[in-house]
Amino acid sequence: MNKDAITQMFSPDQFRETGYQLIELLAEHLEQQLSGRGNVLNWHEPVTEDKHWQQPIPQQANLDISGLLDKLKTEILPASLAIHHPHNLGHQVATPLPIAALCDLVAALTNQAMAVYETGPSATMLERQVLRWLCELIGWDTSEGVLTSGGAQANLTALLAARQHSADWNVWQEGLSAHSQLCILASEHAHYSIARAAGIMGLGSNAVIKIAADQNGRMLLDALNAAHSQCLLENKKIIAVVASAGCTPTGSIDPLREIGEFCVANHLWLHVDGAHGASTLMSQQHKHKLDGIELADSVVWDGHKLLYMPATVSAVLFRNAKASYAAFNQDASYLFNSGKMETEAFNVSYRTIECTKRMMALKLWAAFSLYGLEGMASLVDEGFAKAQLFAEKLAAQPDFELLMQPQTNIVCFRFTGGVETTEKFNQAKIRNNIVQSGEFHLTQVELHSELWLRTTLMNPFTSGSDLDELIESVRKHSGH
Ligand SMILES: *Cc1c(COP(=O)(O)O)cnc(C)c1O
Repeated sequence: MNKDAITQMFSPDQFRETGYQLIELLAEHLEQQLSGRGNVLNWHEPVTEDKHWQQPIPQQANLDISGLLDKLKTEILPASLAIHHPHNLGHQVATPLPIAALCDLVAALTNQAMAVYETGPSATMLERQVLRWLCELIGWDTSEGVLTSGGAQANLTALLAARQHSADWNVWQEGLSAHSQLCILASEHAHYSIARAAGIMGLGSNAVIKIAADQNGRMLLDALNAAHSQCLLENKKIIAVVASAGCTPTGSIDPLREIGEFCVANHLWLHVDGAHGASTLMSQQHKHKLDGIELADSVVWDGHKLLYMPATVSAVLFRNAKASYAAFNQDASYLFNSGKMETEAFNVSYRTIECTKRMMALKLWAAFSLYGLEGMASLVDEGFAKAQLFAEKLAAQPDFELLMQPQTNIVCFRFTGGVETTEKFNQAKIRNNIVQSGEFHLTQVELHSELWLRTTLMNPFTSGSDLDELIESVRKHSGH
């Protein structure tokens, strides 16, 4: 290929022209989704789709940018889950703020590698600023942390730090063998990434001891207490207690102050998985639900959920700044012994699994700068109020059952048809029918062997009448 062709690949003029066209196309796409036109999902069986999308590797250049944009418009976007559609009520995935999407474009073009300060000076500083804001909302002042790609990875990072802190030998260097058994106490509703982290850490997923929750999905202190005593009896070493704020199935928030006080009294590391619900701290109206979170040793907080960011951006935060280095202790020991702490601390790679990572802070920093805490909190308040509204609507239907009053923005329910035996109606089938019809997107959750339909109210443009329509849609697709 000649030099001109390569120059053309990087042409600023081409970038500008295509960029304008792309933004025009995406703005129309956003407009259409927000207005609720079209299906929330154009369902096709994945095996069929898999055949349709296969093509040989393109050999020659054809430079047909308009063809590419056309493909985006006619095939790629229509085969995407319409995330901004008011009928998209399934997962805890943000309807991203458009300004944040633009920031991600900046992150992509500037490609700051972030591992060390000099590969992203402003990216590093923005990250530190955003982390300070989040710590302040928790109620911590000299704490530190790091942004990572997703809550699952953030949970693993926090638990690695907890293990390093709690074991009385250097686990990183000496491994696990020949020492007392390590375990984690977590709510029965803890996210699967906790068990997965235990597996990755070589503890075995059985090392996660499940603590029973009450009817409202909140961890029972008595059960925690009992599990703690049992571990002492069996000579097991607890590396962390994991509380959820809120938990994935129902959005329930564990009693953080009680759990925190228990952990303080028993010298246990408290990890709060706030991937979903830590954003509640922004809301004047709802932040009391997280009372006691400041007692945590580590907190995970997802930006791509209730901070309305595009995926992925998650924070893992440590009350004790030094503990933020504990997860990857082998490198950090160099840090603390080299006398270079002051400058080395700005190299974020000491605190993450990732080496190269995306400039994730810009979008969060921009959203807070533009909309303020007040604006960001209004998104949370909006979602919580809508969950409340939906719960009221469901409770008023004779043929529906509400699992529990929502504590955040997740509402679980099922169709009973007004009869006693709910098994008569196959909730999974109802859900499949609805999802494949493209009318709504919702999820399901199994709790104590019973299946519930599950909605997450994340989209500020979902209206009361959309929720009425969903109720009708469930009736229609129940086959009765
Ligand atoms: C979403 C979620 C996770 C996983 O986070 P990802 O960002 O999807 O990796 C972990 N814990 C809880 C409570 C969650 O809601």
